[in-house]
Amino acid sequence: MAGAFKGCQKIRGPQLRNLLEAKDFILLDCDGVLWHGEKAVTGAATVVNSLIRNGKKVVFVTNNCTRPREKYVHKFSRLGFTDVMLEQIFSSSYCSALYLRDVVKISGQVFVMGCEALRSELQEAGVPCVVEAEDPDATIYNCPLAPDVKAVLVGHDDKMTFLKLAKASCYLRDPDCLFLATDIDPWHPLSGGRILPGSGSLTAALEVSSGRKATVIGKPSRFMFECISSQFEGVDPAKCLMIGDRLETDMLFGANCRLDTMLTLTGVSQTKDAEEYRDSELTTNHSFVPDYIVDSIADFLPAFEEQDEQSN
Ligand SMILES: [Mg+2]
Repeated sequence: MAGAFKGCQKIRGPQLRNLLEAKDFILLDCDGVLWHGEKAVTGAATVVNSLIRNGKKVVFVTNNCTRPREKYVHKFSRLGFTDVMLEQIFSSSYCSALYLRDVVKISGQVFVMGCEALRSELQEAGVPCVVEAEDPDATIYNCPLAPDVKAVLVGHDDKMTFLKLAKASCYLRDPDCLFLATDIDPWHPLSGGRILPGSGSLTAALEVSSGRKATVIGKPSRFMFECISSQFEGVDPAKCLMIGDRLETDMLFGANCRLDTMLTLTGVSQTKDAEEYRDSELTTNHSFVPDYIVDSIADFLPAFEEQDEQSN
């Protein structure tokens, strides 16, 4: 179709090598790109190790807020990614802590509707959180509310209760209390066709009950890229490649930050989904379209093998 929006270029071999040569920073999503749960995508560890050894700045941008950064370092190492350091990991929980500490400079406490890892990431950054007393008889009619809550932060919470939702809704009655979400991922795939509701589903519940809209920290918001830019020298969007498996978060994040984007087909989104967005008449849908598509991160392997042959 003449004048059609471009994108979805299937890329491999020498083209892939040329693209890599033109980039200094490689931004990688984790779930669905590097691993599924505790199983690494075949070849992913070799690719990441080779990228790092070849002098690329590799950073990991993940909306998964269920693990503090040290635990990510352990996971990388456990799955064979041998050279990954703490400084390379940008999770939505870590970036939420940075936002509260450095951007907002929070003066009171944060009410967290999320898991323990999120709370510990805030504590690590010196951001105080409300500590809840265990009381099985507590209800929203009789429970105490902390007087100095200046932000409500929603993330993945597998111990979500109606009482937490009610408390968060009450805190948000104060217009000076900030409303933040680690991410708005709707759901995550599990094996056997099951799914796990994501932070976005809990955020949506609180948006309805509070009548307010959350500020999103994770992808597709630009803030994670600002965190990377503030912690590394010389981050030039033109020299960055964002690789992910989800069009609505990873590719949109890349588009929002003006990065070249690449979809891997080992996770949530598939080529037909990307092509539907590409062929859509709605131009806002074009932000979901990847510049490039590979079957898997393992498609990078030949690029390194050729490089190694050349250098021998
Ligand atoms: Mg993913």
